[in-house]
Amino acid sequence: MKARGLIDLYSPTPKLLHMAKSGCSFILVELLLLLQCLSHLGHGYDFFYFVQQWSSSYCDTKRSCCYPTTGKPTANFTIHGLWPNYNNGSYPSNCNKNSPYDGTKVSVLFSRLQVNWATLACPTNNGTKFWSHEWEKHGTCSESVLDQHSYFEATLHIKDKVNLLQILEAAGIRPDDNFYNVEDIKEAIKAGTGYAATVECNSDPSKNAQLFQIYLCVDASGKDLIECPVIPKRKCNSSIQFPIF
Ligand code: AMP
Repeated sequence: MKARGLIDLYSPTPKLLHMAKSGCSFILVELLLLLQCLSHLGHGYDFFYFVQQWSSSYCDTKRSCCYPTTGKPTANFTIHGLWPNYNNGSYPSNCNKNSPYDGTKVSVLFSRLQVNWATLACPTNNGTKFWSHEWEKHGTCSESVLDQHSYFEATLHIKDKVNLLQILEAAGIRPDDNFYNVEDIKEAIKAGTGYAATVECNSDPSKNAQLFQIYLCVDASGKDLIECPVIPKRKCNSSIQFPIF
């Protein structure tokens, strides 16, 4: 009896075991969350997606679009955004309500923004709505590294470094309404930039898959292209149209 009592003392009951196990997993989850928190402490994010779009595909996706008040954008890729992201695939958004878009902080960049970060939303406007959406949703989440002016300037600078249209045309891939193999498009971008890109497609009214957006990754400083730590999940057919603009 006595021996049995001792054994009982040192052998946890199933209930105790369960409590210990759930306690352990609770601590483990807490620990993982803490580690995740610590890994984001540096910047509050890990890297950026740099997303460019092809204007006529945007117009076909939306079934309509409006050229900006400054006129029809040039037939080139334009910026959609520079989006802070975490290595686990999630992303922060709307990080600082106290930092609204302020045009006076970027006024020296307006002419470059109008050409390279063109709005296509209706009703026609000068771009302020699109830029303020991008700053407030995404830019505020990298504000510890790039203030408002630096965020837009850094994005324009990357766009200048990555001339997607030139890269694709050099590989014989042109915006001529023809269909191209998506793998050839990716290969051309890899050869031209040194980095793998993700291609996002849309459907035009006739259900043709079109080249819509191209994702590359940029390090947390907003300066250099890097290999994407997480490949965004975007759908595309194997053969896609590169529409005329
Ligand atoms: P985001 O929230 O950064 O993923 O951006 C999505 C929003 O940006 C949607 O409301 C889109 O309609 C809008 N958008 C994307 N491209 C453009 C563009 N070229 N002009 C105006 N709005 C755009």
